[in-house]
Amino acid sequence: MKKGLTYDDVLLVPQYSDIESRSEVSLATELGRGVDLKLPIISSPMDTVSETDMAGDLGDLGGLSIIHRYNSIEEQAGMIASLGGEVLVGAAVGIAGDYIDRAIACVEAGAKVICVDVAHGHHILMKKAIKKIRKAVGKKIHIMAGNVATLEGFNDLADWGADSIRCNIGGGSICTTRVQTGHGVPGLETIFQCAKSDRNAKIIADGGIKNSGDIVKALAAGADAVMLGSLLAGTSESPGRTFKDTDGKLRKVYRGMASAEAQKDWRGRVSSQEGVSSSVPWRGPVGDVIEGLERGIRSGLSYSGARSVKELQAKAQWLQQSNASTTESSAHIRLR
Ligand code: IMP
Repeated sequence: MKKGLTYDDVLLVPQYSDIESRSEVSLATELGRGVDLKLPIISSPMDTVSETDMAGDLGDLGGLSIIHRYNSIEEQAGMIASLGGEVLVGAAVGIAGDYIDRAIACVEAGAKVICVDVAHGHHILMKKAIKKIRKAVGKKIHIMAGNVATLEGFNDLADWGADSIRCNIGGGSICTTRVQTGHGVPGLETIFQCAKSDRNAKIIADGGIKNSGDIVKALAAGADAVMLGSLLAGTSESPGRTFKDTDGKLRKVYRGMASAEAQKDWRGRVSSQEGVSSSVPWRGPVGDVIEGLERGIRSGLSYSGARSVKELQAKAQWLQQSNASTTESSAHIRLR
């Protein structure tokens, strides 16, 4: 039987570095069709993560937001239009119903990326949807699609016309797909597998990323960018509701889009429940959170002696760690 590794199973081995300042490190990434990011960070198309405020601020910082699709076409296109074409922004669509009208309205409002956003992307309906969307929006728009868990899935979506592909099924912090369905592949394993592809499509490592160290591991394994939900859901710019917990500390609601709560809101009924509704600590402005992550990523590249993501991928040396090492790898001081 095949084995699969994920973020906490592995470490990158530190290497000789001649990088004297972290400012020598470039985190720029080119995803295709003019989608050039200074920062390889994309916010998830979820109703507690990505709306106008997130898109504006993350876009200014060099990343990208995908405005979620759990709203009317007018609401989603209105959010995109309100950014007055000043930042690069994407829009999520599904693979059934009004998705072509939605894609056209969002592109007319200024979206440069259409993200075909479904839980199981390696699917006949995805093939039909990508082809129809390409026809409807033309050649200048970047099509992101997913999610997939395998190299076969990645190659098929690339052949069907996706420019970038969200990789990982079942690894998100609010996800219960693996419990509910028994299906999935460990998140980092999917990136290792998809990185073997000879297609030109770019890899988006999506879900299960807990800190800047995980971002460095995803990029080193072959990702061109990462997609973040929980790490950004606690910021002032996310649309999630803010509340005080019993200790008086601020928290924000963060929920899977396939959780019962979210499904009731966006489709009025609950189908297969593959996510949970939860909350995360309030973390302040997204600029501060990104600054912290960016520092960690730059430092990470410097530990591998790499000045760019491509150099990191070429130089990366991996080590599988034991359970004892995983414990040793995070703060483990014992308080008496
Ligand atoms: P996180 O960064 O670990 O919090 O994961 C965010 C990712 O989880 C998103 O980008 C989606 O790919 C995925 N996701 C969002 N909602 C659900 C859900 O309800 N079930 C399973 N996966 C989800």
